[in-house]
Amino acid sequence: MKLNRRIFMGTSAAAMASLSSPAVLADGHGKPRVVVIGGGAGGATVAKYLAKDSKGEIDVTLVEPTRTYFTCFFSNLYLGGFKDIDDLGHTYGTLAAKYGINVVHDWAVDVDRDSKTVTLAGGSKLPYDKMVLSPGIDFVDGAVEGWSVAAQNAMPHAYKGGSQTELLKAQVMAMPEGGTFAMVAPPNPYRCPPGPYERISMVAHVLKANNPTAKIIVADPKDKFSKQALFQEGWANHYAGMVDWIGSDFGGGNVSVDPNAMTVTIDGEETKVDACNVIPAMKAGRIAELAGVTDGNWAPVNAADMSTKADADVYVLGDASQQGDMPKSGFSANSQAKVCANAVRGALTGSKVFPAKFSNTCWSLIDTDDGVKVGATYEATDEKIAKVDGFISATGEDSATRKATYEESEGWYAGITADMFG
Ligand SMILES: Cc1cc2nc3c(=O)[nH]c(=O)nc-3n(C[C@H](O)[C@H](O)[C@H](O)COP(=O)(O)OP(=O)(O)OC[C@H]3O[C@@H](n4cnc5c(N)ncnc54)[C@H](O)[C@@H]3O)c2cc1C
Repeated sequence: MKLNRRIFMGTSAAAMASLSSPAVLADGHGKPRVVVIGGGAGGATVAKYLAKDSKGEIDVTLVEPTRTYFTCFFSNLYLGGFKDIDDLGHTYGTLAAKYGINVVHDWAVDVDRDSKTVTLAGGSKLPYDKMVLSPGIDFVDGAVEGWSVAAQNAMPHAYKGGSQTELLKAQVMAMPEGGTFAMVAPPNPYRCPPGPYERISMVAHVLKANNPTAKIIVADPKDKFSKQALFQEGWANHYAGMVDWIGSDFGGGNVSVDPNAMTVTIDGEETKVDACNVIPAMKAGRIAELAGVTDGNWAPVNAADMSTKADADVYVLGDASQQGDMPKSGFSANSQAKVCANAVRGALTGSKVFPAKFSNTCWSLIDTDDGVKVGATYEATDEKIAKVDGFISATGEDSATRKATYEESEGWYAGITADMFG
């Protein structure tokens, strides 16, 4: 891009940073350089806190391919008709303009840990002193027989935010009267333990209003799932006779799909379906594997600072990490990011490092104003992030409590997205 004097004069230092080569900028200032890969719940948060708290002492570069990040959190509420897709989209302008983060919209395609450089798809190389990876998840190849990423338009996973969620909603809305929706649920561990079951609730909610004779079948390789008693109570109360959950005891793990024929075969029994949500087994986002910090699936980390067991200068946050007891959630990733930012800043500038403390709450909506939650606090031990204490909504709660729980989740969504991007 050619800059004339008028544009240069009217361009803030932060915006200039996002136009400059980060290597030149960092070398010019002689500051420590942190490269963050992935601008989601973990990455956006760690970039912001590093830049904000170091007050310009650290050069922070955030690499993220998409210009608008669509949250997976609340994407089920979009499926249920409680949110618009635009409510879920967030951009990176404030991170650049307010905190001086060098936001680079590109894919990281390689990491050389010996020379401490990240290669981008566009060809540039970013040197780092510390690197933080928060790339989220990818799917395990061949995890569901008959399904591959090439079939994700016929049978969407909708487990990464944005267009996949819109596609799944369109397919649910296009189901014929009395049609069948199928979900293939994932094995543990996976992103957002209550996510598939909140999704079932939200699909049931729209079908009840638009297509009340439709059926939902869930093939599940697990014999139990997060907030199971709460969801099953809610399905019986709100969507009686609609949801058929087939756990591992009944062959739910013995499943194959045919995306061309639109069939799902569970324990030998083939069913023709009208919409099918396949959520395969997961592993860390591929760049973590390319960086050589995974065990083949997830990246083992030290609980005190989220540094990897493989390399003390490489940190992994959020879903991609294998950290112990925390569920893979946006709340967890955000919580881990703050611990990591504090530790990285301490390591690079000598600032005070506080003992690691973490927390998480996962809210789910079952029907209008019927919200439930599960959560816990955690501490760092030598082995892992270890649960300290927890709580969960009770079955049979009154409607005022459930409504208050839902309203709390609205407050959380506004809070976490402001914390990540504001
Ligand atoms: C249906 C559903 C509902 C959910 N509901 C909740 C909820 O209510 N509460 C909650 O706390 N959590 C919820 N989650 C989970 C939450 O979305 C994730 O746990 C959280 O986003 C994880 O944060 P992350 O930083 O690890 O990954 P992400 O937020 O997915 O961010 C990863 C980012 O990395 C980028 N990236 C990947 N590879 C590269 C690369 N090579 N180069 C550059 N960038 C890259 C991606 O584009 C992406 O923006 C839900 C998830 C789903 C699917």
